[in-house]
This record gives sequence, structure tokens and C-alpha cells, in this order.
Amino acid sequence: MSAKKKLLVVTDLDSSLLDDSYSWEEARPALHRLKTLGIPLVLNSSKTLSEMKDLAHRLGTFAPMVAENGGLLAVPQESGLLDQPQTFHRSGNDWIEVTGLSRDFILSRAHALREAEGYLFDGFADWSTAMVAEHTGLSSAAASRAQSRHATEPILWKDTLAQRETFERSLAKDGIRLLRGGRFLHLMGPADKASGTVAVKALYQQALPGVEWVVVALGDSQNDQAMLEVADIAVVIPHADGPHISPQAPRVLTASMPATAGWNESILTIIRDELGASALQ
Ligand SMILES: [Mg+2]
Repeated sequence: MSAKKKLLVVTDLDSSLLDDSYSWEEARPALHRLKTLGIPLVLNSSKTLSEMKDLAHRLGTFAPMVAENGGLLAVPQESGLLDQPQTFHRSGNDWIEVTGLSRDFILSRAHALREAEGYLFDGFADWSTAMVAEHTGLSSAAASRAQSRHATEPILWKDTLAQRETFERSLAKDGIRLLRGGRFLHLMGPADKASGTVAVKALYQQALPGVEWVVVALGDSQNDQAMLEVADIAVVIPHADGPHISPQAPRVLTASMPATAGWNESILTIIRDELGASALQ
């Protein structure tokens, strides 16, 4: 890799960097190497910024974060990437930007349709923190972090499938998408983890124009596919039953193990291949 090239790592969290018990213990060797080499680690997840900040803090990364499935971009002041933020506004120590539609707009449309058409659903905006905890199985503190949303709204659909399709078509007129998650349907704007990745790369490009950024993206599931396809090096983290996605990218690697262990192995392989074996010493 030429001297002006630098790696930029963008990663999904659940079942990629994090294992089933939300631990990254097995990725410690790779995380340590990234830090030593000054390679930025960008977290890109469907989680809220509030949930991700806690994690980023413990991981010791000050790189930008892409939260709520691409709907929110947060740039910590410590990253030094934004001198004169134009479209960003300040939230604590971060500059944040809603890159898709705001949750306020999404809620206003969804709730107006519910009132007019009598659709049966409720969601995070309708619930107390205790109810969010009950519906998600999260602790009260974690439920409160999950409630702190800017760009997406999880709902529980209690109506018919036909009604859901009508609801979905009405929302689409305002650019609102309806994405099926585990138990919830997620109402969200057009942004996704890929547009978030492109936006973060642009921030680095702007701050360090002489550098040619080589984006390494890691993910395991369908909502990671587009993010992997805007990367230079795409890493597929398999599940126990094998890989669930097959992205197209200039270089595609499939880890030999699921979650954190596969993540660790892939990052070390890429560092060795791109920067040479001496970068691992
Ligand atoms: Mg995942």
C-alpha cells in the first residue's frame, strides 16, 4: 500500500464486532492493532447514538459514528474532523446531523395516518421507559438509551397484513420506509448504513485531502450488504450456519468464524496484507 493510502474501518456491531453477550473480548488483538496504527474505527449500527456512545467510550474510539441505520451521523469533537460544521448541530461533545428524515417528521406522518385510518400499532413514542423495557427485554437504563432517537421509530404492528401494506404505501409518498427487524417494524427515511459510510469517508477526505482512504467494512446481515458494497474491502462475518450475504466489492473476504472471533481474524489479515507483516509486530 502506498504511503498516502490509509485504512478506514467501518463496522456493524451485533454479530460482527460484538458477540451474543455484547462482548468484544475476542477482538482485543485487532482493536489494539488498529489503535497502535492510528486506523480509525467507525461504528455503524441500527442502535441509537446514546447506546453507541457508551460502547465507543469503552472501546476508546473517537471516530464518527453512524447511528439508527444511517439516519444519524455523529462526529465527536475529539476527532478533530469538523472545524466549521455547517449542517451539523451540537449535542454534548458531538456534532450531529440527521441525514435522512427526522423522527419528528416520521412520527407526525405515521400518527396522522393512524388517526385518520384507524391503523392498530404502537411504538417507542407511545411507551414509557418501563414499557420499552418490557417490550425489548432491556434494562431500564438501556431502554432509556434506546428511546433517545433522532431518525427512526420502531413500532409493533397489531393490524392485518393488508392494512400494513396500505400504511406502507401511504408512508412511501413522504419518503418513509418500513423495514422489518426482529420483532419490530422500523419506520425510517431514505438514509442507510451505506450512505452513512460514504458520508464518514467524505469527512476524512475533507480533513486529510492528501490521503487515499481505503474503506474496510465489516457486517453480517442483509442491512449491511449495501454498506459492504461501498467499501474497498468488504468483510462478511458469517453466522453459525454460514454467510448470510454476498456483497460485490473490489475485495471481498469471508471470515472463517462468526462474530467477534471472525472480526478479529479478518482485521489482522487485512492489516498484514495491506500494511505488511511488520505492522503486526
Ligand atoms: Mg449485525
